[in-house]
Amino acid sequence: MADAIFPFEDRRDFADAERGLLATLEPATVRDDDGTVVWDNDSYTSFLTGDGPDSVHRSLWRQSSLVAKQGLFEVVPGIYQVRGLDLSNVTFVEGADGVIVIDPLLSVETARAALELYRSQRGKRPVTAVIYTHSHADHFGGVKGVVAQEEVDAGRVPVIAPLGFMEHAISENVYAGTAMARRAGYMYGAALARGPRGGVGAGLGQTTSTGTVSLIPPTVDITRSGQEMTVDGVRMVFQLAPNSEAPAEMHFLFPEQRALCIAENATHTLHNVLTLRGALVRDPHAWARYLTEAIETFAAGADVVFASHHWPTWGADNVVEFLRLQRDLYAYQHDQTVRLINKGRTGAEIGEELTLPPALTRAWHTHGYYGSISHNVKAIYQRYMGWYDGNPARLWQHPPQEAARRYVDFMGGADTVVEKAQRSADEGDLRWAAQVLDHVVFAEPEYKEARALLADVLEKLGFGCENGTWRNSYLSGARELREGGFGTPTVSNSPDVLAQLPPEMFFDALAVQVNGPQAWDLELALRWVFPDHGSDFRTTLVNGVFTYVRAGSGDVSLTVTVPRPALVPLASGNVDAARAAGLSLDGDEGTLRQLLGALDPGDPNFNIIEP
Ligand SMILES: [Zn+2]
Repeated sequence: MADAIFPFEDRRDFADAERGLLATLEPATVRDDDGTVVWDNDSYTSFLTGDGPDSVHRSLWRQSSLVAKQGLFEVVPGIYQVRGLDLSNVTFVEGADGVIVIDPLLSVETARAALELYRSQRGKRPVTAVIYTHSHADHFGGVKGVVAQEEVDAGRVPVIAPLGFMEHAISENVYAGTAMARRAGYMYGAALARGPRGGVGAGLGQTTSTGTVSLIPPTVDITRSGQEMTVDGVRMVFQLAPNSEAPAEMHFLFPEQRALCIAENATHTLHNVLTLRGALVRDPHAWARYLTEAIETFAAGADVVFASHHWPTWGADNVVEFLRLQRDLYAYQHDQTVRLINKGRTGAEIGEELTLPPALTRAWHTHGYYGSISHNVKAIYQRYMGWYDGNPARLWQHPPQEAARRYVDFMGGADTVVEKAQRSADEGDLRWAAQVLDHVVFAEPEYKEARALLADVLEKLGFGCENGTWRNSYLSGARELREGGFGTPTVSNSPDVLAQLPPEMFFDALAVQVNGPQAWDLELALRWVFPDHGSDFRTTLVNGVFTYVRAGSGDVSLTVTVPRPALVPLASGNVDAARAAGLSLDGDEGTLRQLLGALDPGDPNFNIIEP
């Protein structure tokens, strides 16, 4: 990739990130009920000053210095944001009787602290509505810090979200949740010490808070673009943007305030087409199209655009320029990648070759602090073409450990490879050094010199990264090589999220945990009754496959009645706790134990950097 442009003389972001500051949280730490710190912004601002040391890319240092700014900010009179108290922002929109909360952060504790900070400056306004811009947990997890379930149930506080919100909010955290959470530990650097040689920020926000993740299901769905609503005297015009940065997402304009909320589709970073923790590939083509639509529909009515990460952009001309460049960023990656796919290039090749137009990299907000051209291009290839690049020599390769043994043998043994890798590292070819040392560690995981050198090489790669998640990943790998595995520091599938599982998704979650070989010879049939959903199902486990049919007919050996509170303990296989929460069994109880006994839950400590 050609050199990016680093316009350090352009200081507008520093003015915008500080504009409208009303108050800061002092100290900027948030604790849970036990006194455990779940957010500590001071741990960043204490060292993020000046131009930065050699161990941090200058551009990432700049971005982190901006992202770490915390406090309550006025966007326009009547619209306020608390930034720097979690990975995301929370926005407060003042209405006739109270305040509308947009995206109440990831944790109950940080959301509560943000609301208190807002009220300390703007008075004790009641919360009159909650809006979720999209289905990612950093935009809903703190909801119970700003409103109680009872107030929503009583119809006093509507919770507004884009169509499909619940399905995606749950599914993304449930099916492959264990693996995603383990890998998220790498990309967010949760186990890294904070400092110039450790975590400096994740580019999108500093890191994730570690408090209680809650969920209140929406009571109002936004189902079409152009839909309007007036809540607490505040008029809003919505635009649906599904399958963009999230599978359920929306933008909306406040016409009277002339302010546009662009959710997470235009922020001050190149975002992810496929996040490093793993996910379904996003659609950059649709993403660009929604930004075009937002420009056409809303830009003439907006003097400011704000998002649920980073700082707003003010001025009608700046709003249009910002949205156009962000749109071009996703459209260019998509279109050029597909063009090169049709020339026969593979993702790895296009990722090296694709260069953004200078007009794009001259703006800071197109730089890759969270997403990157390198990994987005591979994701676009994956979206269209899949894992196989069409070359049959690569169709049936040995898996990593088997290949590693053979590579190391062919290359003259581990000692020789380490010696040559050291030379490559000294000459500055860190990528190659990492690539070959990976083989040595996978062939001989106990070989200390290889582990130590790979750790040093990964650390140097991390120090050179403009991208926050790449830096965190490299440094996390180095840490696990040196000190052993750190497991999963932040677990995302909280009880509140699991409690909202509809029966079908509960069954899907069970099915992907069945240990196939262990269940080959089992034949089980159960009936399940869900009184809170008013539904019943017949399920079978045959051939290691768990299948469900709504109101299905046929013999069963056991009927299980599952009131909502019993679902969470049952989902984790704890029958006694489920019984205490109201689970009842009618028939051969051994059937349930056999089913649960066949489950093989994920391992939050699986190895990544070694076999
Ligand atoms: Zn977010």
